Amino acid sequence: MALRHLGKKGIETSFKRGLVLPRVPASTERHISSTFSKSTSESVAFSFARYINGFGFSSPNHESFPTLTSISRCFHASRETLARRKEDPDRQLSHRELKKQTVKTKGKFSKREKKTDKPPVEAPYVPPRLQRLAKGLAEKTVDVFEGMTLLEFSKRTGESLAVLQSILLNVGETVGSEFDAISIDVAELLAMEIGINVKRQHTTEGSQILPRPPVVTVMGHVDHGKTSLLDALRNTSVAAKEAGGITQHVGAFVVGMPDSGTSITFLDTPGHAAFSEMRARGAAVTDIVVLVVAADDGVMPQTLEAIAHARSANVPIVVAINKCDKPGANPERVKNQLAAEGIELEDIGGNVQVVEVSAMKSTGLDKLEEALLLEAVDMDLKARVEGPAQAYVVEARLDKGRGPLATIIVKAGTLVSGHHVVIGSQWGRLRAIRDMAGKQTDRATPAMPVEIEGLKGLPMAGDDVIVVESEERAKMLSEGRKRKYERDRLLKAEEARVAEAEKKEAESEEGFIRVELPIIVKSDVQGTAQAVADALRTLNSPQVFVNIVHSGVGAVSHSDLERAQACGACIVAFNVKGGGSGNLSAAQASVKVFHHRVIYHLLEDIGKLIVEKAPGVSELEVAGEAEVLSIFKVLGKRRSEEDGVSIAGCKVMDGRVCRSGMMRLLRSGEVLFEGSCASLKREKQDVEQVGKGNECGLVMGEWNDFRVGDVIQCMEAVIRKPKFVSSESGAVRIEC
Ligand code: GDP
Repeated sequence: MALRHLGKKGIETSFKRGLVLPRVPASTERHISSTFSKSTSESVAFSFARYINGFGFSSPNHESFPTLTSISRCFHASRETLARRKEDPDRQLSHRELKKQTVKTKGKFSKREKKTDKPPVEAPYVPPRLQRLAKGLAEKTVDVFEGMTLLEFSKRTGESLAVLQSILLNVGETVGSEFDAISIDVAELLAMEIGINVKRQHTTEGSQILPRPPVVTVMGHVDHGKTSLLDALRNTSVAAKEAGGITQHVGAFVVGMPDSGTSITFLDTPGHAAFSEMRARGAAVTDIVVLVVAADDGVMPQTLEAIAHARSANVPIVVAINKCDKPGANPERVKNQLAAEGIELEDIGGNVQVVEVSAMKSTGLDKLEEALLLEAVDMDLKARVEGPAQAYVVEARLDKGRGPLATIIVKAGTLVSGHHVVIGSQWGRLRAIRDMAGKQTDRATPAMPVEIEGLKGLPMAGDDVIVVESEERAKMLSEGRKRKYERDRLLKAEEARVAEAEKKEAESEEGFIRVELPIIVKSDVQGTAQAVADALRTLNSPQVFVNIVHSGVGAVSHSDLERAQACGACIVAFNVKGGGSGNLSAAQASVKVFHHRVIYHLLEDIGKLIVEKAPGVSELEVAGEAEVLSIFKVLGKRRSEEDGVSIAGCKVMDGRVCRSGMMRLLRSGEVLFEGSCASLKREKQDVEQVGKGNECGLVMGEWNDFRVGDVIQCMEAVIRKPKFVSSESGAVRIEC
């Protein structure tokens, strides 16, 4: 078995500056503007101060900006006062003078006084150079690590030392020289400011690297027994409580092997969407995928989907052929099907282990665990145990009494109670760490799933957990990341809007209309909300665009109703309590709320709504068919043949022939003419339509060359709506 490296993708920051501007206090704006008013008009200076707002790293308490007293003094200073102040040796340096000073030292730092008790900022913040806003830079990702020197950071990012130093001053950090080490958090802060993505690398040098348990995800087709297998493994019965048989709740648990003292961590995932979503967010948590295939059903569409997910994630598979207790079980057939899909099973000389199990009878589970441990040994899974923890969120939920809770899996290091953490864009101090049995513990080591308490907000599944040294640093990083996420979100929304507008334009040129179905998703846990949103997006079709305008955790609130009303959205409430006054408010707000606990019922309801909303496409349909039995010529006034009109004496063989329809003449299956109907008569009477089995006389536009045996089709325009299609396997789609 080849060793596979699972890349620990760090924080992918695609920081595009100048889009959403973080605010500095208005007073600080005034201060900056007054500094600039020396050389330029006040209005220009003011607008520049506003512009700077986009680049200043505004810590929440704005410590890095001058005090209010100095601000007001500077703001009211006249040009003369400012000119006099230029001679004053104790005055603050302007940003230009500061820059000159650093340039003079040819990239070296000017000799600054050692750290004093004064506030860290003595000069106005110098924004990074504007030409660095290029898109290419924002997409650049650099590795950062604890203790890297400023010079190393400058080399990797391509940013000048002078600019880096000025940002450092602004965030309250002082460095004596470019050879001084900066912390990994400071490196991320710097990167955020200059618009570069970072990947956090933790050195393992000097620390103990020990084998760690594998983290396993169970995947497979619906109803093949994933939940039952997980239940059997942990010997509890979540499946019995579950509605609809699809796993709705993301969790994790550890199965211990008493003999060897080893253990396996199982993730309980709500489906393939969550697996790929977590990976997309950089959380490569899963080491091994258990592919569950029912012995009586074989390889099904979602089995193939699971294989594709595991392959794209480069994660090894262990196959569990389940339901082997059933009379119709045929494990050999399953093996052949898997082999046909390119899965190199051990039975046929490959390296993918196969185990026959029965989740219901709890047989073969020990063999499955053995196979997983063997795979883990093959993979040589190891992690650093000491030092700051790196972890990923697998689930997050709001608890009424305890606030935001997150289930996380530690990837490396040790998470200790009381530490300050940043999770995605949220932060907090670890008030409590609980193991999967709910028992409080003071630390969590690699591959250990724990629930943490003490966060200020709800993180998302797949968010990275990093430990920082202080509350202040946690707040700073969280603020910076929030701004970055908001910029990314706006950028994405703008890209989507432009793409949608272009699409609409192209469609309207083709006479095709696409409408939007805005949806708000509410769910009990974050992971499920994401999974539901992903499932709804699969119903996107060329005619109806499913737009998830918001997704969140908890019951449907008034603000959800207001939001839905504002954008004409419907609300999907999945696995959340509803009813009572909420229903009444929804009715008053005339907002459609869909309460569901089973994903397929939800998709069915939304599918119907999509079909209802779809404008449909206009198509020509054969309404009837007539056969030409005889031909009559009616001579014109000059009684010449060319001047006359041919009348086809026909019998309607199928459907109906209408006067208003388009006519199509076929001879030996070939279309010879298409045109409107000039006259339709039945026994000399003009009629609008003639039904099946009746005879009629028909004149077609310019066509005079009828022959006995020709077929005339009557075409009518119909509006064809899309169809909601659900297969037996549970897969659903909108067919246009
Ligand atoms: P999931 O959708 O893949 O999570 O499937 P479930 O675990 O919900 O199982 C679907 C159905 O298969 C349930 O009715 C289970 O009782 C049944 N089932 C699961 N495992 C076995 C098994 O080993 N043997 C038999 N006979 N039935 C099973």
